[in-house]
Amino acid sequence: DQLTSQQAIDLENKYGAHNYHPLPVVLSRGEGVYVWDVEGKKYYDFLSAYSAVNQGHCHPKIVNAMTAQAQTLSLTSRAFYNDVLGKYEKFASEYFNFDKLLPMNTGAEAVETALKICRKWAYEVKGIDENKAEIIVCENNFHGRTTTIISFSNDPVARKNFGPYTDGFIKIEYDNLKALETALEKNSNVAGFLVEPIQGEAGVYVPSEGYLTQARALCEKHNVLFIADEVQTGIARTGKLLAVDHENVKPDILILGKALSGGAYPVSAVLANDPIMNVIRPGNHGSTFGGNPIAAAVAIAALEVVKDEDLAENAFQLGELFRSELNKFIETSSIVNQVRGKGLLNAILINDDEESDTAWNICLALRDNGLLAKPTHGNIIRFAPPLVMNKEQLLDCVSIITKTLKEFEI
Ligand code: PMP
Repeated sequence: DQLTSQQAIDLENKYGAHNYHPLPVVLSRGEGVYVWDVEGKKYYDFLSAYSAVNQGHCHPKIVNAMTAQAQTLSLTSRAFYNDVLGKYEKFASEYFNFDKLLPMNTGAEAVETALKICRKWAYEVKGIDENKAEIIVCENNFHGRTTTIISFSNDPVARKNFGPYTDGFIKIEYDNLKALETALEKNSNVAGFLVEPIQGEAGVYVPSEGYLTQARALCEKHNVLFIADEVQTGIARTGKLLAVDHENVKPDILILGKALSGGAYPVSAVLANDPIMNVIRPGNHGSTFGGNPIAAAVAIAALEVVKDEDLAENAFQLGELFRSELNKFIETSSIVNQVRGKGLLNAILINDDEESDTAWNICLALRDNGLLAKPTHGNIIRFAPPLVMNKEQLLDCVSIITKTLKEFEI
């Protein structure tokens, strides 16, 4: 029996842990850039499951790859080889131009994996004394929810009362080369620098041009691994295959998740070249589901769609259009101060304080007007539609957004 929205919400509230605060809308179907609620109302998806559904909902090529593989072989664990994983590892390694890939499932797991690889590399290759390696991270980062990752978060809600925390992290200001240089000079035990090329959860914070290039150069100078977390920014989202591609930066370790599967299935990965990846040996790391045949088949299809449909170029073009339209609106708006982002990863800054519920209320009104988005803060709304959107749909979304924002003019 089809539940009503209210029945579905009541069930989640009664039987589910309250670890999220979802916008009240209950979805039961998706296709391309659209989703439908259980009452049949159609919406533009303007979040893409936090930038996972870049290839659009239920992309036929991804669905076909997934269902065909599900009917053939779904899971062997890594106790045995399977006949899809190697093909996927070759395909993705060549696609991103690395020697090797380590398959995982979620973004947080891939970040943990990258941290482990980096530390082991520091002890075995760089020669840092065991248990002394430090990893530099940035303020306002978001890399996931595990106990180690929240150890270096500065979001009190994510972190407080979950200690004791993991040692070995040095936190510096994002987009501040001097801070990075000082941290590298002051600490002789630094193994890596973990960075989001654009800080997504922080509110789509784009660093200054040249930051990534120069940060990468500083890492090289100090023989420190540059680790790019592209879980949210990767796979064409920002108008290039990877956000680091805007500056032609090649990370030592690349972390991918979310859209690596087009959102169809949990698939994440860490990529690196042999001198780094070869520190990982049997027994060091693993996961029952990581590298399973369905994940591998889905990821190949999802990456093919990105190239076949030229999603990076589309994201680039539509992103320019989106920001220029929003900027026109902002000229006369009292409610929006700024639009920022790259490609189709954007955010608007609402003219209210961070603790206000204005962004939330705007998202409720957007929902009523047929578009789904979510605040990252009380005054910031992130906009990240599927990259298969066309120009006409984008302009339709712009008119929904500007019409809605007008209801909130002060
Ligand atoms: N890294 C970044 C940059 C992210 O944006 C996210 C998710 N928002 C993660 C890691 C964690 O991914 P997951 O939720 O799949 O664990």
